[in-house]
Amino acid sequence: MNGGLHYMLSCSECGKPIPLLLEKIALAFQTLDIHNKEREFVAAVCDHCRRIEIYDLEKTKPNPPVGQVASLPETSEWVYLGSLECEDNTCKPRPPLFAKRNPATSPVEWKAYVDTWKWDGLVCPNRHPIPMPD
Ligand SMILES: [Zn+2]
Ligand SMILES: [Zn+2]
Repeated sequence: MNGGLHYMLSCSECGKPIPLLLEKIALAFQTLDIHNKEREFVAAVCDHCRRIEIYDLEKTKPNPPVGQVASLPETSEWVYLGSLECEDNTCKPRPPLFAKRNPATSPVEWKAYVDTWKWDGLVCPNRHPIPMPD
């Protein structure tokens, strides 16, 4: 693990840190074809309380007034998993979803972890409900 610059989100429910590597966010936006002129939203799962929330990176940019970027000695284990889909399939942007996944996690352990995520009340940036995927 090489470390690097991370967005230090904090969970909207319990306040625990959710560090996302900037490079991984950039790569996810590239994969999803999300461009700079669009608002940048990411969805992240808190490893502590398991709340999924969508965060607006505009509000956490390293520029004043808030400095939310930190250089960490090790890369965080939050990884890009795919995009969240709301009930309107024409809706954009589709926020990339990040969750903490240790490379040693087995598929069974991973599924058990995913089953604990809290989806209730989750809405996309355009306020459409996001159902829990099957
Ligand atoms: Zn939390
Ligand atoms: Zn939507």
